[in-house]
Amino acid sequence: MTEENALLSLRGIGPRMLERLAKLNIASLSDLLFHLPLRYQDRTRVRPLGSLRPGEEVLVEGTVDLSEIKFGRRRMLLSHISDGTGSILLRFFHFSNQQKQQLAPGVRIRCFAEVRRSAAGLEMVHPEYQLGSEISENGVSKTLTPIYPVTEGLHQIGMRKLMTQLLERLAQDEIELAELLPEPVLTEKQMPTLKQALLFIHQPPVDTKLSDFQQARHPAYQRLIFEELLAHYLSLRQLRHRMQAHAAPVLESGDYARRFVEALPFTLTDAQQRVYAEIEKDIQQPRPMQRLVQGDVGSGKTIIAVLAALSAVEQGYQAVIMAPTEILAEQHFHNIEAWMAALDIRVTWLSGKLKAAQRRQAMDEIAAGVTQIAVGTHALFQNEVCFARLGLVVVDEQHRFGVHQRLALREKGRSGNHYPHQLIMTATPIPRTLSMAAYADLDVSVIDELPPGRKPVETVVIPESRRDEIVQRVHRACREGKQVYWVCTLIEESEALQCQAAEDTAQQLNQALSDVKTALVHGRMKSVEKEAVMQAFKQGEIDLLVATTVIEVGVDVPNASLMIIENAERLGLAQLHQLRGRVGRGDQASVCVLMYKKLSQQARERLGVMRETSDGFEIARRDLALRGPGEILGTRQTGLLQLKIADLQRDQLLVEEVAGVADRLLENNRACAEALIERWTGSAARFADV
Ligand code: ADP
Ligand code: MG
Repeated sequence: MTEENALLSLRGIGPRMLERLAKLNIASLSDLLFHLPLRYQDRTRVRPLGSLRPGEEVLVEGTVDLSEIKFGRRRMLLSHISDGTGSILLRFFHFSNQQKQQLAPGVRIRCFAEVRRSAAGLEMVHPEYQLGSEISENGVSKTLTPIYPVTEGLHQIGMRKLMTQLLERLAQDEIELAELLPEPVLTEKQMPTLKQALLFIHQPPVDTKLSDFQQARHPAYQRLIFEELLAHYLSLRQLRHRMQAHAAPVLESGDYARRFVEALPFTLTDAQQRVYAEIEKDIQQPRPMQRLVQGDVGSGKTIIAVLAALSAVEQGYQAVIMAPTEILAEQHFHNIEAWMAALDIRVTWLSGKLKAAQRRQAMDEIAAGVTQIAVGTHALFQNEVCFARLGLVVVDEQHRFGVHQRLALREKGRSGNHYPHQLIMTATPIPRTLSMAAYADLDVSVIDELPPGRKPVETVVIPESRRDEIVQRVHRACREGKQVYWVCTLIEESEALQCQAAEDTAQQLNQALSDVKTALVHGRMKSVEKEAVMQAFKQGEIDLLVATTVIEVGVDVPNASLMIIENAERLGLAQLHQLRGRVGRGDQASVCVLMYKKLSQQARERLGVMRETSDGFEIARRDLALRGPGEILGTRQTGLLQLKIADLQRDQLLVEEVAGVADRLLENNRACAEALIERWTGSAARFADV
């Protein structure tokens, strides 16, 4: 019997109902069991009318004092009821004559609805109700009433009927429901069994404390959350495990790296040296490295990427460095090409915007193995691009790429059982628990130190109404030989509008500041134009660069020491931090002006955080508190984090516990681990070929 047939064994389920259930992603009895209530109603006790507060959903009972029809803008029936402790008004907009007659003075009534505040006191609008003899003394529910996600044609009552049958069978062990948490774990964590937890969650007994329950603090919920987090963590660990079973070239740094470091005008920070040592240790193994390097904006990640690339080149392999935006990729290419010229290493540029002939040539070089280091955008990972001997993949600013892209990249450069090493770099500091949950397949290194001599960027928050003042400030800065960014932000979704705004602003500033050399860069300009502008700015030929958020990541012009961000209130903390990171890179004191039109409470808090701290980790922690984990990892990141009931922020403490159990499980009970992954992520198949 297939799972689908098993659903048909419930009364009330036919082919039509199967379709409706499918809309709720329910295709099996077990899916239905894991279809959890959104919230609960308490119909287990009758509440005295005198004890009610607005917003509560309650069961009450009383006697009708008076029913009357009111003719206002709409005709309505009003019934006043009382129970000796207080009174409440029932309001009906749709009613029959019969209803009006039934609600006669002296009649007993029991109602269920949300209590609302009205001009005259408390009221219920269209309550469910029973009258007189319909009210049975033991008619109150014996459990809290679950409210489920439902769909067209399958409403609460229908859903509850299905659940009641299902839970009866579960209680009698007529349904197969594997307990996947090992006995010692259940005992150690004092958790209920899966069966107990599900029965409890679907039918919480009368004395369940509703608030604990709804905030998922109840052990029954904790048990499910634990299992879900465990399953997700296991799926990432398993992915890692499978990768580790593959072979990778053994790489070693040598002469190139030594010469490169010697030629640098500075010495590496301790943090850079430590992180590079961690990478070296990985790539000396015949297994693919999977390492994430986190380092705050300006901590010097590029050097690390280049060092790693050189170790590939040293052993005759190719390395590829990929950046998420044209501008950043372009900048990497220029830096790296200049550095590599001294070492006689061939660097190839590839982006989606190259002309066909140049593109062809770049791809030929890469395929022929002439290219030693390829730099570019995600164009590097299109199918037509074939590497001759790819040894290392570096993905810069990975927060702009999704998890699936990351997985796809691993496949690139695979030959037989051989995979390239992978180094992922991000300036988005991710709080530990989040990182454990989202990147459990990676090893993590942190560059926790900035190069010496960096001065913190002074940040000021100024209303748009003082724009003239700000323009004067820009003027002064330019006259003093400083360089300035003016960032135009607009509603994110419309790149066109954003570019238009930047064009307008550039024109206005150009007019207002005729002696300042102003230029414009935005995403709709041709690559060559953008490149020319960025180079001119870098060389100091331009004083004031008006830009859209295309300069958000990676752009590095140390002489720029003033940044104006328009509409700063519309940006998230992570984005503001990235943008601000474009200044404060040289030895001058830098200033960032956050300009706003209108501040909501949240926006005020965000800008306040920016003013208070420049520590990326602190900003990320505050961001997590303000916006939650989904936002921080970015929507594209959620692929591996589609959690059904767990909440990475609320359940942080459990994430820590999960890690310990997961490792034991992977060692001692692999079948169980796989069953957990399958139950909660359904992704066992997805990763099977990795
Ligand atoms: P990010 O981590 O944001 O990518 P970059 O790699 O762009 O940072 O480095 C920022 C700037 O700091 C660059 O100008 C780089 O040359 C410089 N830099 C990197 N490492 C050091 C160091 N150890 N000492 C001084 N400057 C450094
Ligand atoms: Mg960078």
